[in-house]
Amino acid sequence: MHEKTVQQHAEALKKGEYSSVELTTHYLDRIKQHESLNAFITTTESQALEQAERADKRIQSGDATTLTGIPIAQKDIFCTKGVLTTCGSKILEGFISPYDATVITKINDQGMVMLGKTNMDEFAMGSSNETSFYGPVQNPWDTGKVPGGSSGGSASAVAARLAPVASATDTGGSIRQPAAFCGLTGIKPSYGRVSRYGMIAFASSLDQAGIITRNAEDAALMLQAMSGFDARDSTSLDLEVPDYMATLEDSIAGKTIGLPKEFFGDGVDSAVADAIQLAIRELEALGAKTVEVELPNSEVGIPCYYVLAPAEASSNLSRFDGVRYGFRAGEYDDLNDMYEQTRAEGFGEEVQRRIMIGTYVLSSGYYDAYYIKAQKLRRMISDDFTRAFQKCDLIAGPTTPGTAFPLADKNDDPVAMYLNDIFTNSVNLAGLPGISVGAGLDEAGLPIGLHLIGKYLDESTILNVAHQYQKVTDWHLKAPGGFA
Ligand code: GLN
Repeated sequence: MHEKTVQQHAEALKKGEYSSVELTTHYLDRIKQHESLNAFITTTESQALEQAERADKRIQSGDATTLTGIPIAQKDIFCTKGVLTTCGSKILEGFISPYDATVITKINDQGMVMLGKTNMDEFAMGSSNETSFYGPVQNPWDTGKVPGGSSGGSASAVAARLAPVASATDTGGSIRQPAAFCGLTGIKPSYGRVSRYGMIAFASSLDQAGIITRNAEDAALMLQAMSGFDARDSTSLDLEVPDYMATLEDSIAGKTIGLPKEFFGDGVDSAVADAIQLAIRELEALGAKTVEVELPNSEVGIPCYYVLAPAEASSNLSRFDGVRYGFRAGEYDDLNDMYEQTRAEGFGEEVQRRIMIGTYVLSSGYYDAYYIKAQKLRRMISDDFTRAFQKCDLIAGPTTPGTAFPLADKNDDPVAMYLNDIFTNSVNLAGLPGISVGAGLDEAGLPIGLHLIGKYLDESTILNVAHQYQKVTDWHLKAPGGFA
């Protein structure tokens, strides 16, 4: 059963080949069987089976949607009513959310079945899932390698066929980079497309929810269900959501793909560079044209992001003080000491580093030199994209400079870890949609991701191009050994 995609499950459920309860039980068994991947922080068996029973009734009574009865894994950054919600942090130990995030409500309304909450980097800060308080996650393609991060649990779960789809979030690359490392499809929509209500905030001006699936068709279907205006998120866009499925089959002949020369330079592994060139040849064979474009401020994307994201994080994370949620230190002298002990014991090293950087760049005397400067760079990066998109319909390049790296490899070198986001975080800074699709394997058999970046609000074009690419290639059909 688990070889099937979301669409294929939808057809099978409709035809009555199996029930949602049977399907859910199958995935719950697989999750147990592959517990050593550590892809989940929490599994919600009894709730899942109840949801599956309700879904089966809906299917029988003819009131089902395409997604009714299909299991999904939810990233533990989304608040889920009555269920432990940790965001990968000790500081939220024992926090049972009293409400559902809008993304969760929308998915529940479809009648999907939540299998559990996936492991992630603490507060989504990381590129390897190793900052999680709940331990690292293994990449099913090679269990000695990281699955990427911060949505590492979601990517590992979908790659290992422990769930047909998983939710994810992306502040600087956290959907696209793990999708690339695990041979999956991961889309981050335009900023404002999906509600952030109930999604624990890291850097509010960059955070976006999205989805990790096995192919672009499933991504389109899921994104449709998750998107739309939400009055409870002040940055939510009050715009009609395009019909993403309707344009998947459009021909891409005549579309112009921009190739930024900054994405094809030295720092990219040769296996990755070669695979991306081949992928571009495939797109040309489908009738797309290519044109060189420039993103001259690409090299300041990382420093700009690593000023702004920590600045926003330092403010967002001030709410975790031992009073309102989760963990409180056992011993302290007075109120101030309680805050200090709670935060010192409750936050991991990377989160503390970000809070310190963020507080520093926002402090009087440094604010203009760092924070305001970074805001100006952000505008320049965004303007680069606007100029590039005058010449093309979408932009292509590698998702990451390399493939999945060994566990513990970059733990002592935060800057090396940050460089993983080199091609992804400028997309968040500009608020644009981006998708990663599997486009090859390196010499060690590890997946390579092709990154497609769309114009603001134009998820349709990148989904269309990704789908057409997948119709003529089979990278998205490959499963890691032992998990087929
Ligand atoms: N790796 C980046 C960071 O650590 C991006 C994380 C994300 O997108 N949530 O901030």
